[in-house]
Amino acid sequence: MMDFSLNEEHRMIQEAVREFAEKEIKPYGREWDERQEYPFELFRKAAKLGFVGADLPEEYGGQGLDYLSSALICIELTRADSNVGSAIASSTLGCPMLKYFGSDEQKEAYMARVPGGETTSAIAITEPDVGSDAAGIKTRAEKRDDGWIINGTKTFITNGSISDWIILLARTSGNDYRGISAFVVETSWKGYDAKPIKKMGLSCHDTAEISLKDLFVPHDNLVGRENHGFYQLMRFFNESRIMVGAIHLGIAIGAYERALQYAKERRSFGKPLIEHQAIAFKLADMYRDIEAAKLLVLKAAWLVDRGEPDPALSSAAKLFATETAVRVTYEAVQIFGGYGFSREYDVERYYRDARVGTIYEGTSEIQRLIISRVISGKL
Ligand SMILES: Cc1cc2nc3c(=O)[nH]c(=O)nc-3n(C[C@H](O)[C@H](O)[C@H](O)COP(=O)(O)OP(=O)(O)OC[C@H]3O[C@@H](n4cnc5c(N)ncnc54)[C@H](O)[C@@H]3O)c2cc1C
Repeated sequence: MMDFSLNEEHRMIQEAVREFAEKEIKPYGREWDERQEYPFELFRKAAKLGFVGADLPEEYGGQGLDYLSSALICIELTRADSNVGSAIASSTLGCPMLKYFGSDEQKEAYMARVPGGETTSAIAITEPDVGSDAAGIKTRAEKRDDGWIINGTKTFITNGSISDWIILLARTSGNDYRGISAFVVETSWKGYDAKPIKKMGLSCHDTAEISLKDLFVPHDNLVGRENHGFYQLMRFFNESRIMVGAIHLGIAIGAYERALQYAKERRSFGKPLIEHQAIAFKLADMYRDIEAAKLLVLKAAWLVDRGEPDPALSSAAKLFATETAVRVTYEAVQIFGGYGFSREYDVERYYRDARVGTIYEGTSEIQRLIISRVISGKL
């Protein structure tokens, strides 16, 4: 029998996050957009309530919940606000690499500090000359008797200048995917320098360019096995892409709900907008795509919980949910007319914040590449 309903625990989590997000985040979305700074106080409040890193083990400060719960949390956070919601949802970016490949000491010293709200975390892969082709990174780690010396530049790193620690991918041998290793690096160490990048949207996210100059990293801070970083990354993406899908599904839902309400209230030619078929059909298409994205994202998360992560489905969920968010927010602005272009209404912010979805965590083109390789048996 197929059962699409959420169980009691999932429903309770969903309701609890919704209540928090509606009260603490939604009313202040515009304010945070204008402040353009990371919403630390809301991050800490969310952490206190168990909404940060809920799927991390209890012994390391998490709730020990399943991945589906984490996806539901992300959806509710961004439904309330695309900007603040995704900033909080992205606070755990560095954690999965430690959860799966870190030593007990690394989990205790670094990962455990995130669910408690002590610090955000980050993962640094992208470089100024290398984005989609992650196997080609050039940041170099040279082995010494007492540790590693790292030199290079990373760019577009979410939480790169506000986190106490980051996961850093660097080249430890050769020049292809077989020579990459992951390190956990403290941002206070000498040789680590980060500066923020100005962006089109996600104004309260920290996105940084990081310069690494003779950064010394002890042997104990290598994550997992030397030269296994790329394989670890593939595991990371299997899950992180579902989370990005969930974040953007929430953005799509938030924009759709606002547009639906507006279409019922605003009148033109003597009747509510929703009674004009051109507008009603836009809303019908939004509804259709959101429901389809929900099925993809939640099924991909459910497969992770069953121990059967599916790279093609994770990519499909990310691809479809982010493209849905771009389409839905575009049409939401259209339904609001001139007010949609004004900063007075949330949909303008949702539109800007949705746009990056088809770019980060692997572009739409790269997701199609992955899916096509899996279905043709090449991956
Ligand atoms: C707000 C934001 C946050 C980010 N956060 C992080 C982070 O936390 N950590 C991190 O490491 N990175 C992060 N990134 C970087 C992001 O993952 C990269 O920007 C992305 O992977 C694309 O890389 P690129 O920008 O170098 O584009 P490129 O790789 O130069 O691609 C440019 C264009 O060419 C297309 N293209 C490239 N190769 C192919 C191909 N083989 N076939 C077809 N089309 C192709 C791409 O799809 C794209 O349209 C972030 C980016 C942004 C904007």
